[in-house]
Amino acid sequence: MLVRVRTGILGAVRGRFAPSPTGALHLGNLRTALLSWLQVRAEGGEWWVRMEDLDRVTAAEHHERDQLAALAALGLRPDGPVVRQSERFERYEAAISTLREQGRVYECFCTRREIREAAQAPHGDLPDGAYPGICRDLSTARRTALLDEGRRPALRLRTDGERFVIDDLVAGRFEGGVDDVVLRRNDRVPAYNLAVVVDDAAQAITHVLRGDDLLSSTPRQRLLQHLLGLPAPVYAHVPLVLAPDGTRLAKRHGAVTLADLAARGVTAPMVLARLGASLGLCAPDAHVTADELADGFDLDAVPRTPWSLPAEQL
Ligand code: GLU
Repeated sequence: MLVRVRTGILGAVRGRFAPSPTGALHLGNLRTALLSWLQVRAEGGEWWVRMEDLDRVTAAEHHERDQLAALAALGLRPDGPVVRQSERFERYEAAISTLREQGRVYECFCTRREIREAAQAPHGDLPDGAYPGICRDLSTARRTALLDEGRRPALRLRTDGERFVIDDLVAGRFEGGVDDVVLRRNDRVPAYNLAVVVDDAAQAITHVLRGDDLLSSTPRQRLLQHLLGLPAPVYAHVPLVLAPDGTRLAKRHGAVTLADLAARGVTAPMVLARLGASLGLCAPDAHVTADELADGFDLDAVPRTPWSLPAEQL
């Protein structure tokens, strides 16, 4: 099945930034947040923040507060309530029930290691870490044996070779297949792809702008939207920020959070100008506000290549 994603949006524009509150936001996260804010602000739309704190082991409220403060320091304030995924499990369970009624859910007892060992060389354009389908058709005897061993199942989506075309505003036309993505982990925590689809629809999000590491997961999300009868937002996947060694920026690379930078005398307004400069919107030493950057902002003019941070800025 090949389904084309419609990008015509009628009505209010609403974007969102959806960090996981597992640590301080770094320059890469902040640049993506700024872009999502600029995209909807330039169109007179709203910008919301959603805390993707499904994993209570790694998420913490002090990170949430710190992240919101960092966004506010750049002038990015949410226009709606900050929603926490940890408080919405019943919505995700309801979506799983809907999928179950369609015969689209099965139990998976695989460990990560078993999946790694069974996975073949990259197949076609399936997303990274695509599940090879080991538990799709388990016999009752095998299932009972696994339960007797004390294994607890995750739940996966039963896919059927669906493919989707995404007309991405930044990455361009992207076509990709889907795999049997996890819906609920074996510790009963709902999975990211399910929760993000349920929440983007529940919050009437029309524009999703995020890092391009999630582009290959977008067909999975489109399939879930299709099966759950939910509208598809317009997608924009932006290049990540890279460290001087060419890898994706991370905290280990040096002064990458607002607190690190403040300790070196680089204030939040200076960081904003630096981010704006990386997007070709202002000079790196400009005195600008986020609102000024939004004036005349054009997503089409955003660089299509990653921003490589120079070593002297870290
Ligand atoms: N929570 C995800 C992250 O922090 C982003 C999810 C999304 O934007 O769809 O990488």
